[in-house]
Amino acid sequence: MTAVMKPGLMDDLRVYGAADVAKCFNCGTCSAVCVHSEAPYVFPRKPIHYLQLGLESKLEGSLEPWLCYACGECSEQCPKKAEPGETMMSLRRWLTSRYDFTGLSRLFYRSWRAEVAAIVLVALVTAAGFLAVGFSAGDIRHYDGPHAFLPAGGWTGGVHLFDWGMAGVLLVLLLTNAARMWWFTLGRDRDRRAPLSSYLAALYLLPLHFFTQRNYAQCERKRPWVTHLVLMLSYVTMLVLIMFFLRDMASGPRVDWRVHVPGLVAATGLLAAVIINLRGRLRRSWPQHAHSHESDWIFLILLLYVTFTGVLQFLLHRAGLDLAANVTYVAHLAGVVPMLVLEVPFGKWSHLAYRPLALYFARVRRHAAAAATSAVEEARAA
Ligand code: SF4
Ligand code: SF4
Repeated sequence: MTAVMKPGLMDDLRVYGAADVAKCFNCGTCSAVCVHSEAPYVFPRKPIHYLQLGLESKLEGSLEPWLCYACGECSEQCPKKAEPGETMMSLRRWLTSRYDFTGLSRLFYRSWRAEVAAIVLVALVTAAGFLAVGFSAGDIRHYDGPHAFLPAGGWTGGVHLFDWGMAGVLLVLLLTNAARMWWFTLGRDRDRRAPLSSYLAALYLLPLHFFTQRNYAQCERKRPWVTHLVLMLSYVTMLVLIMFFLRDMASGPRVDWRVHVPGLVAATGLLAAVIINLRGRLRRSWPQHAHSHESDWIFLILLLYVTFTGVLQFLLHRAGLDLAANVTYVAHLAGVVPMLVLEVPFGKWSHLAYRPLALYFARVRRHAAAAATSAVEEARAA
């Protein structure tokens, strides 16, 4: 594939949070100190060099930005203070906007006002919708039972059905974006095409990296990995509880230990991880928190809001304060919906899908290259 130079790409990336890339003089120190950088995926020097040259299509097809865990070690060692770690972060934002076909991601990363406006709009529509449904069919003084304001329902109705509808939309968006990521990184370049056997051989990496984030554990500082892992596992636990056990979760006011205890553990994990991250960003205590893009704040504040209102409505329900619990539940859903339909496919949350995918695609490429090499050697030997 011919690489086309795009003048001004460095300036474009500034909006996504790239630091002063022009300062880099390609010494390679950053790639030498990064524990994740190994041939053929050498970074951050290589993607920074592409950026300096304006090689947009090369960057679009790069997996390297997703192999970086934002530990900040390279930025600390860079002799020119060119902030390579931050440039890798900005490249991930830029790539997210390239994979997204709707243009929303690009819009949100380029304008925090547009992102906030979209979140507020979706939140207001959600709240209005749930209030209308609640007042038409239920009683706001009842949280559950036959007169429930917002019944959890089952597979055929209630909030549960709404959740599954939303999950379906989300899945379609994420799969479409993942397909575009595949096209940029493996599909469109003939030299990178891999046989099906390479995809199958590496498939186990997807759940492995998603659930353990084990490459992150290789970074020198372990606390960011632990915090990230807790945040991700808590989020996934909560998602499973809501998608499959909503009726049990919404039952009460008696505590159902089977679902409420895991729910509370997950909520505590979410709250702790979000507060640690917010504090870190405010104090700039970890190198990866030295620079914060507006999208980082929006994501954390929204997650804090959703977790806090979720726990609050749970406690109000246990206390028998059904009216207050219903109002808080509507406020909670008004945060959940924009978080799921805007932040997951178009914002920061999407990295939960893209990073394991990148690690998977990287292995597929390696596997395919090794298979091709051994085929050539066999042919020569024959
Ligand atoms: S970013 Fe810094 S350490 Fe990395 S190649 Fe450029 S000047 Fe060297
Ligand atoms: S921030 Fe950390 S993981 Fe990312 S490129 Fe730099 S040293 Fe490697």
